Amino acid sequence: MTVDYAELREGLVERLEWLGVIRTEKVKKAFLKVPRELFVLPSYRSEAYEDTPLPILEGQTISAPHMCAIMCEALALNPGDRLLEIGTGSGYHIALCAEIIQGDKDASNGILVTVEIYPKLAKFARENLEKAGYGALVNIVVADGSLGAPTRISFDKILVTAAAPEIPPSLIEQLNPGGRLVIPVGRFYQDLKLVVKGAGGEMHIKSLGGCVFVPLKGEYGVK
Ligand code: SAH
Repeated sequence: MTVDYAELREGLVERLEWLGVIRTEKVKKAFLKVPRELFVLPSYRSEAYEDTPLPILEGQTISAPHMCAIMCEALALNPGDRLLEIGTGSGYHIALCAEIIQGDKDASNGILVTVEIYPKLAKFARENLEKAGYGALVNIVVADGSLGAPTRISFDKILVTAAAPEIPPSLIEQLNPGGRLVIPVGRFYQDLKLVVKGAGGEMHIKSLGGCVFVPLKGEYGVK
């Protein structure tokens, strides 16, 4: 029996809208487009459209779709944004972001950089992104992302998909004035924080609720 993934994807999007976590047309369009079945391990493909995290390599997980939706909405992604993700994992979340930032053929000036600490996962994500058609849009870097991206550019939006004990200072530095950072902060259970950098560089921090992520590793990660 062949599985109709497009139909399962539509069902998931309906549930996420009903939950109130998909709130805008652009996030909805991205969820309807990105094939999550290409970002999970083959043995989990039948569960690709369950709203749950799933194991990937190196003991890590692909985040639950509702969490990706909450984070995408909180970042208020726009076509042409410069986005940094810390924690590439499967590549699914950055594919959703690529769809919003670069999905429109006219919006070719956005930048997507994602940092992964495990080379094996960077390779997994690269293959998944290529299969799904996002290979050319996303720059994957193997590094300790708790130190920020190893590049001199700064970003409009920063997405952290692993739990940090505190907000790494390097990420605040790499955020443009007017920019937004979404990050789970805490050890066992975390608080999802939205940080908005004011035009003068001042920080406004808001809590978006509880969440559970795998721990951030590295210099500013969980020891
Ligand atoms: N965004 C991912 C989910 C990632 S799970 C997805 O869509 O599938 C968290 C990821 O963060 C894991 O892949 C983990 O290896 C990575 N990670 C943990 N600490 C890191 C660090 N200091 N720098 C970069 N990546 C890190």
